[in-house]
Amino acid sequence: MDLDTGSQNYQFAQVNRFPDMCPHCNTGIDVIDRQGYLKTGILQVVFFCPINSCSKIFIAIYHKMIVKNPLDPFQYSLHGTQPRRQPSGQSFDEIITKLSPEFVSIYKQSARAEEYGLNQVCGIGYRKSLEFLIKDYLVSKNPERREEILKKPLGQCIKDDISDTRIKNMAKLATWLGNDETHYIRKHEDMNIDDLKKLIEATRYWISMESTTSDYEDRLT
Ligand SMILES: [Zn+2]
Repeated sequence: MDLDTGSQNYQFAQVNRFPDMCPHCNTGIDVIDRQGYLKTGILQVVFFCPINSCSKIFIAIYHKMIVKNPLDPFQYSLHGTQPRRQPSGQSFDEIITKLSPEFVSIYKQSARAEEYGLNQVCGIGYRKSLEFLIKDYLVSKNPERREEILKKPLGQCIKDDISDTRIKNMAKLATWLGNDETHYIRKHEDMNIDDLKKLIEATRYWISMESTTSDYEDRLT
């Protein structure tokens, strides 16, 4: 790679990889043009998105690698891009979006925190999103008990108020894992954020299915 070190001198630097997504259009790309600028161990490389409708420029930031193996050929490792890549935006079906817009909003913010590498806080966000999903779901089924449900601890709501066993089981497991994200001591060392996200996804899937099922049952009876 050509490097401009601040003067007109060019050097050669090796990087571990090129960005494979354009941060503007979120499309997988094979970068076509690059020019590097190196200063105090930070390598900035200008890339050009080859997608016609985008064609924008962005900068990839590389940090100098600590070489453990002298035979390792990579000197700079990709740290991120400027602008940052937008979270890919998980899609939420209409039932969930209508049922709990707050869940969708909190979940998306948590996903953004995760993409920014804020690992200490995104789990708390996912746990919070789960609480909104479950409580909005229960309030939609029992609007007359709204105040009671909102005040009640989440674990208790799941235990007492969810009758569908698939939703109940997934929500219970997700809450256990989610609580790990908020407490000093983890009870489930072998599980992580990805497990929590999968359980939340399963919970919302069964909520969505249950809602569709009961909707059609109501219409047909
Ligand atoms: Zn692009």
